[in-house]
Amino acid sequence: MTFYFLTLFPDMIRAYFAESLMKRACESGAVDARVIDIRDFAENKHNRVDDYPYGGGAGMVMAAPPVLRAVRSIAGVEAMPVINTSPAGRPFTQKEAKALAREESVVFLCGHYEGIDQRAIDAVVTRSYSIGDYVLTGGELAALVMADAAARHLPGVLGNSESLAEESFENDLLEYPQYTRPETVEGVHVPPVLLSGNHAEIKAWRHRESLRLTEEKRPDLYEKYLQNQKR
Ligand code: SAM
Repeated sequence: MTFYFLTLFPDMIRAYFAESLMKRACESGAVDARVIDIRDFAENKHNRVDDYPYGGGAGMVMAAPPVLRAVRSIAGVEAMPVINTSPAGRPFTQKEAKALAREESVVFLCGHYEGIDQRAIDAVVTRSYSIGDYVLTGGELAALVMADAAARHLPGVLGNSESLAEESFENDLLEYPQYTRPETVEGVHVPPVLLSGNHAEIKAWRHRESLRLTEEKRPDLYEKYLQNQKR
């Protein structure tokens, strides 16, 4: 899967794909992360890509022409989802992450300053996503969050595909608590069932813990789970 990141801060993106699982995903060819510097499309002496907002107000706005040129520099972009990162976008969830993973290529547009001239968004963006009800300084983190959440669903990216099936948000439940060695930490023991070797009991305990945690921490999700169980 190919991710294109259109950004004013290419090193922020490159740094993420130089570590851990995403680095391995790139090395194995499961992920191709391409970074396009919008500044390269500025066409003025100082490579300026922002300007004052019409109508006044605080901050600067990313100008439409370099953004449009940057997007259109991608061969075949007409057939790709072009995603705008925006607090005004649709909330990005696990469902959207899985849907993204089914795409061959995805383009992320990373805004900065007060955002991007609306005319560029209207001309090229196919959907806008928000990663939460808060304001970031730029879209890079948001684009990386979405790319990471999608890439985990690609074959070969996680060592063990079973870990996906049991994770939080599968079937609208949060995951059960996890433990590893040592058996006792500051006097607190691992739940004995996990040492029993009885796989049926372990599975049942984990399911009960998932239900308990979801009801306690995310009553909204728990309600959704109960509704789905009735169907
Ligand atoms: N003036 C904008 C507003 O009030 O909605 C905020 C602009 S923000 C400082 C700069 C950029 O960060 C945005 O254009 C967007 O790309 C990104 N961004 C900020 N918060 C985000 C969020 N919650 N989800 C996705 N992208 C976000």
